[in-house]
Amino acid sequence: MRKVNAVLTGGAGFLGSHLVDRLLLERWNKVVVLDNLITGSLSNLSHLVGDPRLVFQQVDVSDSVAVDGPVDFVFHFASPASPDDFTRHPIEVMKVGSLGTLNALELARAKSAKFMMASTSEVYGDPLISPQPETYWGNVNSIGPRSVYDEAKRFSEALTMAYRNHYGLDTRIVRFFNTYGPRMRLDDGRVVPNFVKQALLGEPLTVYGDGSNTRSFGYYEDVITGVYLLATHDYREPVNIGTEEEKTILEFARAVIKVSNSESEISYLPASVDDPRQRRPDLTRARTILGYEYHVNLEEGLQKTIEFFKGKLDLK
Ligand code: UDP
Repeated sequence: MRKVNAVLTGGAGFLGSHLVDRLLLERWNKVVVLDNLITGSLSNLSHLVGDPRLVFQQVDVSDSVAVDGPVDFVFHFASPASPDDFTRHPIEVMKVGSLGTLNALELARAKSAKFMMASTSEVYGDPLISPQPETYWGNVNSIGPRSVYDEAKRFSEALTMAYRNHYGLDTRIVRFFNTYGPRMRLDDGRVVPNFVKQALLGEPLTVYGDGSNTRSFGYYEDVITGVYLLATHDYREPVNIGTEEEKTILEFARAVIKVSNSESEISYLPASVDDPRQRRPDLTRARTILGYEYHVNLEEGLQKTIEFFKGKLDLK
C-alpha cells in the first residue's frame, strides 16, 4: 500500500484523538496533528509519545496552516463542540468553522490532498422531522445561543462544496450526532459528562426542562469506523454517522444511574434556549453507501465511559 500522510486539525480533541489512533492502527504513514488546545488536551495523545508517525503542532488553524512535505488527506475536525463552549468561546467557534475551514481547504488544495470536514447534526437545528436525513435543510435560529456553531458548520459545509465544485477538490462531509466515550472532557457541560459525574459523586442528575428532549448517543468506536469508511470512499454528499437508539434525556438519566449503580436522584432545571427537541439520524446513506453499521449499545458504551470518568475523578 502507498504511504498515506494525513493532517488532522483538532487531533488532540475527543474525536480527533480517537481518529489519530485509528489512522495509525490502519498503518497510515504519518499523522500531523494541528491543535490550539483550547478544548483539546495533550493527555489524549500521551499514549503515543515517542511514536515517530505522530507529529504535533500547537497552532490555531484559524490563523494559518503550514505543513512540510507531502500530504494525502486533510481532516478538519477542530472546533469547540459543546453548548457551553458556544458561550465560552463564541468567536473561536465561528473562526474555526470559517477561517479554519478555509485554511484547511487551502492546504488540501495546495497538496492535492483529499479532504474531510467534521460537520454535525446541529446543521438541522431544532429539526421539524425525525429521523433526519441528509436531504433535510434544517430549522436553525441564526442569532440564538447555538447559532455560532450551527452557522459556522453550515458555512463550513458550503465552503467545502464550493471547493469541490470550483476547484474539483476531493471532499467529504461527515455529520456527527451526539457522540460519547472516553476522552470527553469532564467539564464540557454536555449531558454525558454531567450525568456521569453527578451519578458517580451521588449528586442529583440535572435534567434541563422536562427531560422529554431526545438524543441518539453514538459510541465513539462506531463513529470513528464511520469516519474511516467515508475517508476510504469517494462519496461527495454529506453523510450522517451515529446510532438510531433514540432516548429521552430522562431515559438517558435513568440509564446512567443504573449502569453506574448510583443512588442519585433526578433534579429539574430550566430548559436551555433553542435546545433541539429531538435528534435521530437517518442512516440509510451511511448503510447503503458505506456499509456502515453500529454495534455498541448504550449500556455497553456507558460502562466504558463511566470507567474512564471514574479514573478522572480518582474514584478507582
Ligand atoms: N442536558 C441536560 N442536563 C445537562 C446537560 C444537558 O438535561 O446537565 C440536556 C440538554 O438540554 C439537551 C441534551 O441534554 O437537551 C443534550 O445536551 P448536550 O449539551 O449534551 O448536547 P446537544 O445535543 O444539546 O448539543
